[in-house]
This record gives sequence, C-alpha cells and structure tokens, in this order.
Amino acid sequence: MYEQSVQLIKEKCIGCTNCIKRCPTEAIRVQNGKALIISDRCLDCGECIRVCQSNAKIAISDPISITDSYDYKIAIPAPSLYGIADSHVSTDRILTGLKHLGFDDVFEVASAAEIITKRTNEFLEMNEKDGPFISSSCPAVVRLVQVRFPSLIDQIIPFISPMELAARIARKRAGDDKGKVGVFFISPCAAKFSEIRNPHHFEESQVDGVIGIKDIQVLLQRLIKSDMETEKLAVASGVGVGWGRIDGEARALASDGVISVDGISNIISLLEELENGKIDQFRFIELMACPGGCVGGPMTLVNPYVAKSIIQDRWDETGSEVCGDCGTLNDIRWTEELPSCNFMKLDDNYEKAMQMLQRLELIEKSLPGIDCGSCGAPSCHAFAEDIVRGRAVITSCIFVLRKKIRQLTDEMIKLEDVLPYRLDKDE
Ligand code: SF4
Ligand code: SF4
Repeated sequence: MYEQSVQLIKEKCIGCTNCIKRCPTEAIRVQNGKALIISDRCLDCGECIRVCQSNAKIAISDPISITDSYDYKIAIPAPSLYGIADSHVSTDRILTGLKHLGFDDVFEVASAAEIITKRTNEFLEMNEKDGPFISSSCPAVVRLVQVRFPSLIDQIIPFISPMELAARIARKRAGDDKGKVGVFFISPCAAKFSEIRNPHHFEESQVDGVIGIKDIQVLLQRLIKSDMETEKLAVASGVGVGWGRIDGEARALASDGVISVDGISNIISLLEELENGKIDQFRFIELMACPGGCVGGPMTLVNPYVAKSIIQDRWDETGSEVCGDCGTLNDIRWTEELPSCNFMKLDDNYEKAMQMLQRLELIEKSLPGIDCGSCGAPSCHAFAEDIVRGRAVITSCIFVLRKKIRQLTDEMIKLEDVLPYRLDKDE
C-alpha cells in the first residue's frame, strides 16, 4: 500500500466537500461528514491542502529529532530553501545556519541537479529521434503518469531525482556507513516524503528522513540574523539553484524545444494532449505539480512568487558555471522499470471486472449526472464505482433518495385508498 504524506486532521474537517473535486485522481470522499483519502490513488500533490479553508489537511514529514539516532548527520537542502531569505543573504549563510541547527555537513541538492542537467542533455542527444521526454524530477508528476497516463511511462526520462543523487554523493563522501551516517532532505515537498518510502524505480532510498522547510524555517531565519560566522559551503551555480522554481530545469538545459508547466490541472491538460498525439514539437517537458515549482510546495512558508523571484536573483548572481562532475549516465538511471498503477481496474479477474463494469454503467445511468458532490464522491461516475466496490450505498445520492421517498409516499397514498373499511375508522 502507498504510504502517503498528506493526511487529514479529522477534528478540523467540516465535511464541506471543497477538496473532493480538486483532487486530480478522485482520491477523496466525504463520508459521515469527514473527508477520507484513498491512499492508493493519492499523488501527494498537496492540492487538497491548498483548497481546504479549515486547514484540515496537512503534509507530514519527519521531526528534526529523527537525526538523533545518527552519529554523523548530513543535510541535503532543496534549492527552494534558498527562497527563505532575501538574495542579499548568501547561500553560504543559509547553509551555515543549517549546520548550526545540528548537522555535521551539508550537500546541496542543487549540485546534484547540475549533474542531472548534464546527463539530461546527453540523454536527449542520444535519443534525438524520439520524444517528447518528460522530466522525472517531480515525484507527484511521476505518480500522476503512473496512475492516470500509463501509456506515457516510457516518455519519462528514467533518472533518479536530484534529492536521491545528492544523498548518494553525500553518503559516499562521508564514508558510506549506513546506520551511523544519516542523510536528511530539507524539503518543500510532500511527495518527497512518499518517494523515499515507496521507491518503485530503484531498490532503496539513501535518504534517511525528510524534514519540512516549514519546521525549521523560523529557527533558521533567526540563525541567519544572528552573529554566527559564515562558512564557505555553497558550491552549486545558478544552474542548480534555478531548479527550485518552475522553468529552472528547462532553462538549465540551454536548448530549444523545451516547455515548462506548473500546477496539477495545467499538467493534466498538457498530458491529455500529449497522450492524444497533439504535442510533438517539444523535446523536453518540465512539469511541476506545485504552483511556481518547488518554491510553492506545501512544506514551504514563503509566498511562492516572492521565493521564485529570490531564486531568479540568486541564479543571476551566481552565474551558470557548473560545479565538478560526478559519476556517469548509468549511475543515475532507474534500476527498475516504473510500473503503472491502474487504480481503475475493478478486479484482477477479467470476468468479474466486466460484470462490475456493466453494473457500474447501469448505476451511473440511474444517477442525475450533474456531479454535485453531495453524496461525498467527486462525480456520479466515481459514486457509481464506489457502490460497485462496496464503498457506498445508492441512497447516499439525495436525488435517488428523494425519488425513492416520493415513490414510497405515492404507494402509501394508494394504499390508504384500498384500506378495509373498519380499519379506516377510529372506533
Ligand atoms: S476541504 Fe475537504 S478536508 Fe477541508 S474541511 Fe472540506 S471536506 Fe474537510
Ligand atoms: S494530495 Fe493530491 S492526490 Fe492526494 S488526496 Fe490531496 S489532492 Fe488528491
């Protein structure tokens, strides 16, 4: 079962159903007045966190105390972390602040992003006649393709994420001692928490924990303003730092035929067109589930547009001279094929699945087809599917219920007319 980051705080949920229609995979239902997430369908895209006015959805991450069990602790910060302070504060100072939080070393994910940029250029050259290719850096997008667009799986560039590569390099630098050395991703993203727990395309993640930027931001900002001495720690150039915002990855390739799209609904529209063969003029497609890219992740606190502009300033200041290279193309390739997750399949047994499908179609025809959401499902189709799967009863539809009550009332009235004379009198 998929282990997700996004969770419901039951006490805060008022059952308003706002979130059910915004979920890109129809993973949410409202039952007995409370939202419920169907784990296998969840992408950890964070969309339901953004729309919930009651703050009833949260992205869970590891507490900083998780680092206590390791002798040597390494922080690998996401490039989006650099959006927490104005660009006149150096990245060296932000990284020094991280060390003062209790880490022994830091290794920038931005450096790993630069390596992936180089390798992506090589990959695109090697596969010049194929494509368009989709970036694999956003785990929510990779999972979206697995669950909703499995026919596009082969178009995903089969590379591990910059986070995973950074963890591998940092661990190797520290002596590769799993158990004593702990590597922790400083994350803007809920889906990264799930990526390390459900690595479908490589054996085991080298990341030991995911700590949300929101959980350390206030302390870090305080340290930045303190009189601590700044160490020279930053090595990544603007090419890697730019990955923290939408467009950063595509621009880093410095090539024609690239496109960047952010926001889950925009991405779905684009993938639909790609699936229908309407888009073939691009070689590389950068897709980021969060608005503005990683700077808009649910584990960040800074306004994504402000953070995006800070990241851009840092890129301009740092330049595009990439740092030293590490490894080869094979080092970053997935070791396993990415499976599709067809959650629409009604049953493993073909005959049974067909029977269920026929029943689903009949039920759907009996529903009003207006997708009002009052049954707690996002659409009449999803509700019919829930009934067939035994997760809902048809009388949860207020239109069906009203019809049934009317029928019952009519029958009662008719019955009254045919009551035996004596029973019709009081005495
Ligand atoms: S948006 Fe969803 S989680 Fe938030 S209160 Fe409404 S039903 Fe509950
Ligand atoms: S995180 Fe995204 S996929 Fe998961 S339940 Fe929320 S909206 Fe749906």
